Formats: sequence, structure tokens, C-alpha cells
Amino acid sequence: MEIAFQNVMETLVFNKLHNMLHILDCCHCEKCQKDIAAYTLNSLPSKYVVTHQGELYSRAEALKLQYETDITTALLRSAKIVKDHPRH
Ligand SMILES: [Zn+2]
Repeated sequence: MEIAFQNVMETLVFNKLHNMLHILDCCHCEKCQKDIAAYTLNSLPSKYVVTHQGELYSRAEALKLQYETDITTALLRSAKIVKDHPRH
């Protein structure tokens, strides 16, 4: 069986960013989205899990409930940073 490590927080942040993008008051280009994701991930704890098929989903759901508010807050803060200091 293939065993891999994955930082579940990455998936959660990217999904949340995608869902919130329309309400974020900043540039929506790919570069800025990745900057926002990077700032956000740096401000949140990494949550590595060992993935087996199917298992990741349930772990991700549990962590999503736990970190939903933190992720939202961090994304809003990161969007403001990117808006104030765009790299292009
Ligand atoms: Zn941009």
C-alpha cells in the first residue's frame, strides 16, 4: 500500500480560499491567490496526516470543523496584506 504524508491544512486553506474569493477585497489573480494561501498557511499550524485511501477525507473533515474560524480569520488577514503589498 502506498503511504504518504500530507498537510491537511493545505487542502483546507485552498478550499476555503476558493469559496471565499468572491468576498475578498483584493486582486484575484493566481499570483495573489497563492500569496494569500502562503501567508495563511504560515500563520496556521501544519496538520500532517499519514494518508491511506479514503482516510484523508474523514481526517480533513474533523480538522475543518476544528479550524474553520481560524482559517477564515487568517485568510481575511492575508488578503489584506496582499492587497496592501501586491507583488505586481
Ligand atoms: Zn494579483
